[in-house]
Parts: sequence; C-alpha cells; structure tokens
Amino acid sequence: MRKDLTMKIDLTGVTALVTGGSSGIGEAISVTLADSGAIVAVHYNTGGERARKMAEEFDNGSEAFGADLVDPDAARNLFVRAAESLGGIDLLVNNAGIFIPVQPDSGHGEWMKTWERTLAVNLTSAGVLCREAIEHFRGRGGRIVNIASRAAFRGETAEYLAYAASKGGMISLSRSIARSFGKEGIKSFAIAPGYVLTPMTEEYLDKHGDEMVANELALDEMTDADDVAPLVAFIASGRLDHATGCTIDINGGSYIH
Ligand code: NAD
Repeated sequence: MRKDLTMKIDLTGVTALVTGGSSGIGEAISVTLADSGAIVAVHYNTGGERARKMAEEFDNGSEAFGADLVDPDAARNLFVRAAESLGGIDLLVNNAGIFIPVQPDSGHGEWMKTWERTLAVNLTSAGVLCREAIEHFRGRGGRIVNIASRAAFRGETAEYLAYAASKGGMISLSRSIARSFGKEGIKSFAIAPGYVLTPMTEEYLDKHGDEMVANELALDEMTDADDVAPLVAFIASGRLDHATGCTIDINGGSYIH
C-alpha cells in the first residue's frame, strides 16, 4: 500500500520542548508547533513573562519552564521537569544559544570566560538535553532538532571562534545521535541558519549595517525566524525521518556547500 502523502501537518498528540522558546527563532518554532497542534514546553532564561504568556495563549496544556543553561545540571533538570509535567516529550529542539564576541588578543582571562560560557550554553547543555532525551525516547521513539549555524561549516570571524566551535560540535553531536540510536526510533536533525533577523543579530546589524549581510545573500530579502520555524514542524511530523542525521541550511543562499 502506498504511503499517505497528504502534506497537511497535524501535530496533535506531539509534545515538544523548545529551549530559548520565547525569543527570536525559538519563539517562531514554539508558535508554529503550537499552531500545528503540538503541546509546547516553552523554555526561557530571562524571558519568563513572555514564555508564560505564550504558553497560556496556546491554550492547549503548554507550559513555560525556566532554566539557566550555563549550568548543565539545570539543563538536566529542565528536561526532567518538562517531561514529568507534560506527561512525556516527543521532540527536543535545542535552540537556546549565545553569540558573544571576544577578540583573541583581549587577554587570556576574558577570552576563556567567553569560550567557557559559549560552550556551556551552546554545546554542553545541548548535549546534556540530548542525553536526557535519548534515555526518555528509548522504547517510545522521538526526534531531536539542533539549531546549529552556518558558522559550523563556513567558519566565523575572529571574535566568534567559540561560537563557531560550539556550533561545529552541535553538528557532530546531532550526526552521532542519528547513527547510534536510529534503530531505537530516535531521529536527529540539525538546522544551520545564516543571518536571521532576531534579537541576537540586532546589535551586530546595528554595528555593521544590513548591507554587508544583504550582499552575501543569493535572495533579495533577509531571512527571518518564520523562514526557519516551518522546517521544525515538518521534522516533527515524521515526514523527514529518512533524512535523519542531515543538516539543512537556511541561509538565503549565502553559503552553499
Ligand atoms: P535570541 O537571542 O532571540 O534567542 C536566543 C535564546 O537563547 C533566547 O531565548 C535566550 O533566552 C536563550 N538563552 C541565551 N542564554 C541562555 C542561558 N544562559 N540559559 C538559557 N537560555 C539562554 O537569538 P536567535 O537568533 O533566535 O537564536 C536562536 C538560535 O539560533 C541560537 O542557538 C543561535 O545560535 C541560532 N542561530 C541564530 C542565527 C541568527 O542569525 N539569528 C544564525 C544561526 C544560528
């Protein structure tokens, strides 16, 4: 019998944990998942008010959960709390991240501080959350989406070495999970955005101007969070399961490899 190829995405019955789910790309992902019927654990660090309002407006049992992901124990605890409170998780979206500049010649202490904070939030906590998700998904299956970056492949400028390294780590993490746990029904995907108009890039664009970013693009408009979010809903639907292990670029054609 042929597979049903109807393309309406209905995520009723799916529960998702979205880290950094109340700002920028994470907010668009949370809204898209909820609009498609999913129950969302909207994680926040400082955006508690917004996260709680979003969860309330979804009006489907979604909830907000706070955690500072600089602390790996907080990451672990976040997964446990969300899974317990929502009766299980089917989709983990590792979206929370930081993009902090530090020049390599700014002094060892300053450089190390940024390196450690960036790796802690962008990679260590993502790894801890993946590990929790793998244990939870065993026997029931599940999907993981890691929001990496174009920086993992193209590289970044000198002041973002830690950021690029953290995102490169995320790609290897995502691929290794896909290879290791597929037989247990666990699928893992990475998304690699280029510049996306969000609070993260506001300061950068204010400083460097839109022109530099716009000139890199093959398309004639900048990417925004709504250009990224639908892919996560598509992955959540299971229609992309046979692409497990892949990375999908969403960068307006600014880096094709
Ligand atoms: P954003 O600043 O709007 O969102 C980042 C999120 O991470 C926020 O919700 C924030 O609360 C959370 N976060 C930051 N520090 C945290 C901490 N210590 N503990 C817990 N949560 C923390 O930026 P965004 O552009 O929406 O970024 C989302 C993801 O997309 C990030 O992983 C980022 O690296 C990635 N990304 C963004 C771009 C871009 O151009 N905006 C490009 C490539 C990849």
